[in-house]
Amino acid sequence: MGFVFSFFEETKMTHLWGESEEHLMILPAKKEERELEIQVLINSNKLKLCQRSGKAPGVGLLHAPFALLPMSFPKVYWEQALELAPLFNELVHRVSLDGDFLQQTLARTKEVDPFTRRLLDIHSKMMELNKKEDIQLGLTRSDYMVDGATDKLLQVELNTISTSSNGLACGVSELHRNLIRHHERELGLDPASVVGNTAITQHAEALATAWAEYNNQSAVVLVVVQAEERNGRPVAVVYFRAGYSPADYPSEAEWRARLLIERSSSIKCPSIAHHLVGTKKIQQELAKEKVLERFLDNKSDIENVRKCFAGLWSLETDNIVNSAIESPELFVLKPQREGGGNNIYGDNLRETLIRLRKDGSNEIAAYILMQRIFPPTSPSYLVREGTFVRDNVVSEFGIFGAYLRNKDKVIINDQCGYLLRTKAASLNEGGVVAGYAFLNSIFLT
Ligand code: ADP
Ligand code: MG
Ligand code: MG
Repeated sequence: MGFVFSFFEETKMTHLWGESEEHLMILPAKKEERELEIQVLINSNKLKLCQRSGKAPGVGLLHAPFALLPMSFPKVYWEQALELAPLFNELVHRVSLDGDFLQQTLARTKEVDPFTRRLLDIHSKMMELNKKEDIQLGLTRSDYMVDGATDKLLQVELNTISTSSNGLACGVSELHRNLIRHHERELGLDPASVVGNTAITQHAEALATAWAEYNNQSAVVLVVVQAEERNGRPVAVVYFRAGYSPADYPSEAEWRARLLIERSSSIKCPSIAHHLVGTKKIQQELAKEKVLERFLDNKSDIENVRKCFAGLWSLETDNIVNSAIESPELFVLKPQREGGGNNIYGDNLRETLIRLRKDGSNEIAAYILMQRIFPPTSPSYLVREGTFVRDNVVSEFGIFGAYLRNKDKVIINDQCGYLLRTKAASLNEGGVVAGYAFLNSIFLT
């Protein structure tokens, strides 16, 4: 995890697609800085562009996998997710203020999961210092799938750190609009029904507004990515585009840096508490009876939030573990990790549960069990590396959110565009960069 300082002169961000999610870098707005940055990335072998560039000399960029046409999506789900976005933003904030809740809920996980322990250690140091974060910035993404059996929109997870693909998501909806416009007669579709996406500008604006709120003209926005450290001006906002995975902390130096950032006065996106609210364990705890009531006051808000919760259980619930061993295809076993590719399914899930139970190990506290959602399937053309395949697909739909608060004043609490990812119905996991899913956009019906 290196630190790249980039000052947002305008509220503009340029993004670059690399080979894996790690390498999706947000680069400085200034042209010279951006070129330097790209050079650093290429030199550090982070982007293995040249090998893959093939027939495009001097460009070396590979398109991200995408679905050829947008997915038709009922308006009612779209509206439901939009309505939920500010509620989840507020919920993240309120849960983040309850340090004891975070520490207690994750206490058993902490014993068996060193990564979560390190995050909690920083968090408890801040509690000891009674550190107050006057200005809080959350850039979130709440992910959903439609459950085919019940027609309900169910939340897969709530992301509070490195909520990626906002730039790519905007690109793909523009691409779809253009395709439909060009082939309007053959397709008979209205390009205006492709939902436009403002994720990148709204998230950039939230970062810029946070910077303004910090109120120091000479301060910069620090974007934490995986590159070399340079330069040093006061930092108004720290945006973590890395730091969500144990691999981002190869030595003690990165943990010291994370602690240093947390102790500093800069606005963190996310703060350590916001980061922890995004863990699967907290998601599971919030789904328990009476827990939402601790954090939200309005009855109908609570009802609306709860409506989108899928079945979530800790592994201490014996009868659920039995059911999962009997019918593993109906469940997903999740550790406290981000970035895709970490969940356990099917026979693996069964074997893992049997092993954990036999060992009588505390390791069970590292996981949660979740009801597997089966979205309705439809045919789609999926394009990767310039060629397409036709497949039966399912989709996952994320709504970006932004939340900026200075003491009692909520400055931004908004939904900010969306991410639609489509994958073959036969697959378990779903990340675009993990190689499973394809970027897509929404065609409202
Ligand atoms: P991560 O933080 O690593 O993205 P997720 O909880 O989003 O973890 O899980 C990764 C992927 O696994 C999702 O994008 C989705 O494709 C699949 N998945 C997760 N939970 C479920 C579920 N309950 N039902 C069906 N698929 C799921
Ligand atoms: Mg996640
Ligand atoms: Mg996810």
